[in-house]
This record gives sequence, C-alpha cells and structure tokens, in this order.
Amino acid sequence: MKRILLFLILISSSISFSQTDQEVLKTIYTQSLTNGKSYDWLSHLSNQIGSRLSGSLGAERAVAYTKEELDKLGLDKVWLQPVMVPKWVRGAKEFAFIETKPGKTTNVNICALGGSVATPALGLKAEVVEVQNFEELEALGTENIKGKIVFYNRPMQADLIQTFEAYGGCVNQRYKGAVEAIKFGAVGVIVRSMNLRMDDLPHTGSMTYDNLPVDKRIPSAAISTNDAELLSTMLKLDKSIKFYFKQSCKQLKDVQSYNVIGEITGSEFPNEYMIVGGHLDSWDLGDGSHDDGAGVVQSMDVLRLLKESGITPKRSIRVVLFMNEENGLRGGKKYAAIAKQKNENHVFALESDSGGFTPRGFSFDCTDAAFNQVLSWQQLFKPYLIHYFEKGGSGADVGPLKTESNVLAGLRPDSQRYFDHHHASNDTFDAINKRELELGAATMTSLIYLFDKYGVNPISNKEAIKD
Ligand SMILES: [Zn+2]
Repeated sequence: MKRILLFLILISSSISFSQTDQEVLKTIYTQSLTNGKSYDWLSHLSNQIGSRLSGSLGAERAVAYTKEELDKLGLDKVWLQPVMVPKWVRGAKEFAFIETKPGKTTNVNICALGGSVATPALGLKAEVVEVQNFEELEALGTENIKGKIVFYNRPMQADLIQTFEAYGGCVNQRYKGAVEAIKFGAVGVIVRSMNLRMDDLPHTGSMTYDNLPVDKRIPSAAISTNDAELLSTMLKLDKSIKFYFKQSCKQLKDVQSYNVIGEITGSEFPNEYMIVGGHLDSWDLGDGSHDDGAGVVQSMDVLRLLKESGITPKRSIRVVLFMNEENGLRGGKKYAAIAKQKNENHVFALESDSGGFTPRGFSFDCTDAAFNQVLSWQQLFKPYLIHYFEKGGSGADVGPLKTESNVLAGLRPDSQRYFDHHHASNDTFDAINKRELELGAATMTSLIYLFDKYGVNPISNKEAIKD
C-alpha cells in the first residue's frame, strides 16, 4: 500500500514537471476563470475609489489600495516609486448652449478638455466657425476666424475596423486644436467627441498649448456627438448663431505621486526583467473601469496567476501600475529613467491599456526574428480564440523602455465598443464583463509564461512547442 502511494506521488510530481505548454495554459485560464481576482479588485477601484485623475484623492487612494493588495500576494518585493505629477482640476460642471436669437437657446453637452484653461467667470459667447481639419482652418485664415470659436467636427472614420486607427485619425483635433486655432485669433475651441457612437456624452482627453504663455491660451471643450451634429446643422441654416460655454477648470502645481510596483524575483536570471502593466490614473468623468482599471487589475492578476498555477519564473517578473498616463506620462517616463539609471535589463514589457473587452491577441514592437518566435506560440492560444498576433505598437507607458533587442507588446482586446466609453462618464464598472476581463488576464499571463520559459531570443518553431 505504502509503495503504491509512493509510486502515485512520484507519478503526479513527474507529471507536473513535464507539463506541456498546452496544459500550463489550460491551468492558467482555468485559474483565471474560476478563481480570478481581477473583477473583485476592479470593483473596489471603480466603486469604492472611483475616478483617479493624477494628483486627486482618488489617485492617492488607488496607490494605497493596490500596494496593499500586492502586499497580500506574497511577492518577493512590493514598493512605491515616487513621481511628480501634474494636477488639473475640472471645477464646477461645464455649461453650454447654442443661441439662435437673443434669448433663444438650446443647451448642449460639453466637458472641458484636460489641461484646458477656464472661460472668463461669466462664460464665453462668440460666433462659430466649423472646420474638418487644420488645412481648412488655415485656408479660412485670420480674417474669418479672429474673435470666433473654432468648432472641429471631423468624425471618427466608421469604416475602419481597428477603432484605434479611427481614433488616431481624429485625435489631433483634440490635442492640437487650440494651438492651431490660436494662430488665427480664435477665442475658444469646441471639438467633436472622439466617439464612434451617436450619443449625448462628451469625451474628455488631453490637449496641449505647447509653450504658449498663459495669457495666450484659449478654453477648449469637447461636445457630444449628437450635439456636434446639432451645432453643425444649425450652422448650415444660419452662420451667425452663437455658442456660449462656461468652464472653471484649473492647472495647479505638480504634486507627489507614485508608480506601484510588485516583483517575483527570477529563479535563474534575476537580472532579466519582464514587466506587465497598466495605468493607475484615469480621467475624472467616469470611474476609469475600462481605461485603465481593467489593465491595472489584469496586470496584478498576472503575478498572482503565475503563483497559483505553480509557475516559478526564471526571470524577474514585475507588475508596474503607472501613474499619470492620461495627462503627462510621467510615470512611464520615470520608470524607464530609473531602469536605465540602474542598468536593469528589461527584456520584455506587456501593457494592457485598450479596455477590458474580450481579448483577441497582441501587437508586438520587436525584431522580425523575435516576432517569428511569437508566431510559433500562436497555436497554443487557439483554444481560447486568441488569434491576433501582429507587429505594431505596444503601449504608451512601456514605450520608453524600448531598446533594439527587447520586445514590447500590447494586449489587443476587441475594440468595437471601447470608444463608446473612452474618457466619458459611462466608463464605469457596469460596462465591464467579468469573463472578458478574466480572459484578458489569463491571455497576458500565458504570454508572460511563454516569454519567460523560452526567452526573447529567436529559436526554431519546432523547439518552441516540442512539449
Ligand atoms: Zn488609457
């Protein structure tokens, strides 16, 4: 009897030793879907803490909460990395209307763009010039623009399947709209929200004045897609209608904040670092569940899932929760600067900052040789309907870590509904699906596992999936 027992123990331990990659991935996905923590963590971040704009109380509480939760995971190290961040506050809710005749007004939905100055205390009222792009603006010139509000109304392109491409094709209106309009004497800027859907929610996001002195800056706001259409239609009927808006946002002094970092130290190559992360800050209108609460909790769960699945990483795996991606990228820059200073070799970095929707795959910023290696793992993901493996960008926060030889990657979830919520008041916990979130965490963990097992150097396809 004893002998049989010993035999069984030997068999079971040898099975766990020679687990195939297929089996390991199955364990990781099972763990995430039956025993995942990401959804609970996100519930706390979203529902108990709420929005986490850099420098806000929410951001401070999120730092403390995630540090505390990482402390509970029994990692080798957990620490806070100090970083100074900008602090911009929205102030009282914005108010806006279209005036067709004195006293005849229609209220519309706007929100100040992040970093914008306020309007005068009593608001700003002026005629409106609608343009689709900067070329049109230039063609109109100072004589048509001086003293008016510039209204950028180029919609996101609906026929692009990759919605991030549609976003990329439009976002210069939001980011650079003010600096361009200022050149021609505009007094304010209204931008159509970066949203593929027609609805009443304005979407905020960062904008810049470059280095213009404060007295040259003009207030800038986003308008909902429905109200952008309304304003455009009314302008077609009568060019002399006026637009009024009032906002009281403010840029305050930089404040102290932190990146939150946890580490499992590598058993064989402790000086080779692989990181997984998302950004802890969020815009202030919703609670940042998709952008980027999802990426934060998924990244935290990667380290936990590795442990729960009985994986001992050879390399050091870090989770990095970056501060201030939305309006400064100070956390991402700081992390990379310190890594460089300490001569830390970051061989791989994975970011999740595209929402918590069903994962489809990854995009990779790497050499062709490294990419071929990645492609050799593709069939391991087939059972989980993960099929998108493309070369392309990774993520804003891990971008500064790029070297000639390392691999950066971004999780690519389904993006069709992402911009319904992005930077708007409906980026909230109810828009998150538990299973989709957990599938994302498992998909990320699986990629980390494979990169850790095989390293980032190209190896033959055969070798990669031999077991
Ligand atoms: Zn984000």
